Amino acid sequence: MNPAISGANRGRFVARTVRVRAPGKVNVSLNVGPLRPDGYHSVASVYLAVSLYEEVAATSTEEPGITVSIGPASTLDLDGVDIPLDERNLAYKAAAIMRDVSEDSTGVHLEITKRVPVAGGMGGGSADAAATLLACDALWNSGLSREELAHLAAELGADVPFSLLGGTAVGLGIGDELSPALAKAQMDWVLVCADYGLSTPEVFHALDRLRDAEGLVIPEPLEVDAKILQSLRKGDPDALSKVLINDLQRASIELAPELRDTIGLGESSGALAGIVSGSGPTVALLAPNPRAAEELAEELRHLGHNALAVHGPVPGARIISDTLL
Ligand code: ATP
Repeated sequence: MNPAISGANRGRFVARTVRVRAPGKVNVSLNVGPLRPDGYHSVASVYLAVSLYEEVAATSTEEPGITVSIGPASTLDLDGVDIPLDERNLAYKAAAIMRDVSEDSTGVHLEITKRVPVAGGMGGGSADAAATLLACDALWNSGLSREELAHLAAELGADVPFSLLGGTAVGLGIGDELSPALAKAQMDWVLVCADYGLSTPEVFHALDRLRDAEGLVIPEPLEVDAKILQSLRKGDPDALSKVLINDLQRASIELAPELRDTIGLGESSGALAGIVSGSGPTVALLAPNPRAAEELAEELRHLGHNALAVHGPVPGARIISDTLL
């Protein structure tokens, strides 16, 4: 039973806040197959959870229903950015799914602290959904296993299960069939964030168009290059820099040609290699060590870019506090 309505508190509503943080991701490799009849593309990807986190504070409310707000500690400039706060928000959808499977649900307010660029190809909305699943599971004492939560996560979107799991993982299917992979050491990255977003479906459509025009047919099943996993296992950024791959990159560059310059600038300023993250437009630059990443980020900031040093792998969604108010 929910502690807010149990024991000494029976009859008196006591609000409780569960705060969860969940990481954004970079696709170290992303192979994209043809469009499937269900409208998705099959993919083979290696996901890396990085140290840029979304936070969701889920507070039980006496009023039934789900409400969403963006918290004041958000580090993004959200002026003019379209984040729906109604049932279209991925965090809202996650809470609604949890309510359906929880016997002791209450109303809930979700305050999202946004740090992962919106529509940036880093799975920010997916991280909000993963964080909300875990927060509501705790808030309503649903007692679901990680496996059951992962199942619900897959219903919300292809990238949600990974934000729950974190670390490093191979994703097959539409990206939701995950197998954890070994990574011996942290890799250091600089994220160059754009002040605009790219729509993931539009980037996939652009890739289909480019491939159709070339008559390119992608053989299936898709596979992950073993060298990617070897270099992660060894913790060897030099080796990894030679095998980074993102099939979506040329489609993102078609829609936002300046991304090519951003990658070029990063590589000529000390990055081992650069790659568009997922569907973009965030660019992930691989650095040889933490200090080089800090220096590169600093240099790019001087040149007017929104650049941030991060590392990965980091753990998936975690509860960071649980307070009775
Ligand atoms: P993907 O997982 O497809 O790579 P992304 O990281 O590129 O996604 P998101 O930041 O997750 O992009 O958001 C994509 C769109 O989803 C936004 O433009 C916004 O309209 C909508 N959206 C729904 N819920 C959220 C949320 N909680 N945070 C941000 N955007 C959201």
